[in-house]
Amino acid sequence: MVRVLVIGAGLAGLSAALAATAAGHHVVIIEKSKRIGGRGTSQHIDGFAIGYGPHLILNKGPLMKLATKLSKVKVAKLPLRLHRIESVGNGIIRPKGNPQKVVESKKALKSKDTTNPHVKSAQFISGWGIDSESRYQALTKGNLSCVGEGWSGLVGRLAMALDEVGVLIDSSLEVTSIEQGKVQLKDGRTIETDVIILACGYSKTRTFVSELTSKSGQNGLPENDPITASIVDVSLDSKPLQQLQAIVDAENNMAIFDMKNIHPAVGISGSLLSAIATGGNDQFKSPQQRLDGLYAFLDDRASGWRNHIISERGQSKITLHANPDSPIQFDTFSNHNVLLAGDWIDNEYSLSDAAVESGRQCGRHVSDLIG
Ligand SMILES: Cc1cc2nc3c(=O)[nH]c(=O)nc-3n(C[C@H](O)[C@H](O)[C@H](O)COP(=O)(O)OP(=O)(O)OC[C@H]3O[C@@H](n4cnc5c(N)ncnc54)[C@H](O)[C@@H]3O)c2cc1C
Repeated sequence: MVRVLVIGAGLAGLSAALAATAAGHHVVIIEKSKRIGGRGTSQHIDGFAIGYGPHLILNKGPLMKLATKLSKVKVAKLPLRLHRIESVGNGIIRPKGNPQKVVESKKALKSKDTTNPHVKSAQFISGWGIDSESRYQALTKGNLSCVGEGWSGLVGRLAMALDEVGVLIDSSLEVTSIEQGKVQLKDGRTIETDVIILACGYSKTRTFVSELTSKSGQNGLPENDPITASIVDVSLDSKPLQQLQAIVDAENNMAIFDMKNIHPAVGISGSLLSAIATGGNDQFKSPQQRLDGLYAFLDDRASGWRNHIISERGQSKITLHANPDSPIQFDTFSNHNVLLAGDWIDNEYSLSDAAVESGRQCGRHVSDLIG
């Protein structure tokens, strides 16, 4: 049995811990926040499952498969529907009851002709600017879904499975540095371990790894130019989007979703608007300007929303994807008994699915490190 210390209790860290435990190892997770789940979670506030921006899940991706496997209770999910999504200036993406338009829409989306505004809208909402063929295909086929229990429900399934097998998740504990076989905590303690799995986001991982490699002469992690987003999550006692699930402004990389119009279980009544803008510096001079632009989009398209707020959260800058200069493998630093997990690890998936897949790769590889 190998002692494994996982740093970070986001989706990557939790999945890594599950896979390492299943392989028979002794696992401990350390998380600096009070809450687990990282960027992939939600909080129940006034009866609404409020997350960090709109999160849509691939029906048959690694996250969905793992959450389904871990519990007898089926994950209640409902898909985005193209006949309920409006592309600004171009109407509904696939209008219902108009066979000619339906055929045209299917042809256009299949062609992936990026001069077609509906294709641009579909590309934006399937990957938030990250080119993901599987998520694009899933959207066009009704396989990209909102989860009724909120993302905290999915994270809760992972955490409960870990609890059942006795894996400790130590929250509110920050790791400040690592070396082979050892991690240093902010409270001054040192923990010894055989294997470290870094699942704490790209920039922190880059710092930890640079300390490790500076001594061995090995290259650290490459520079990165992260893709960031501004987000607004707001629950309302009104329905400003009426029956629409989303309004997309692909020219300005912005979208507003009514998550409750996708899955009624995410809120008790009214609507749960989740808006996102991902334009970079060429479009907006600062993250605050981008957030202001998103509020202006809400004022324009969700008219009157400000008079119906139950709870509101706006954030000018959150990392959507670390976007490293070159692909990075989970076992790049396995010579130091350190493995890497996160949505930025090179595998066939993207976003949360890439995070879960990378965790699984790490957990399964532990036995190969210390035979
Ligand atoms: C606005 C937005 C929209 C998104 N939409 C989608 C979507 O529609 N579909 C989808 O699949 N994915 C989506 N994602 C991506 C998804 O949220 C992420 O891919 C996933 O949550 C990443 O998980 P992770 O574990 O790699 O990283 P994180 O969630 O960032 O977890 C890292 C964890 O490490 C902890 N940590 C950091 N430093 C330390 C330290 N020193 N010591 C201890 N702990 C530490 C952090 O507190 C955090 O809990 C979206 C993300 C954003 C921001």
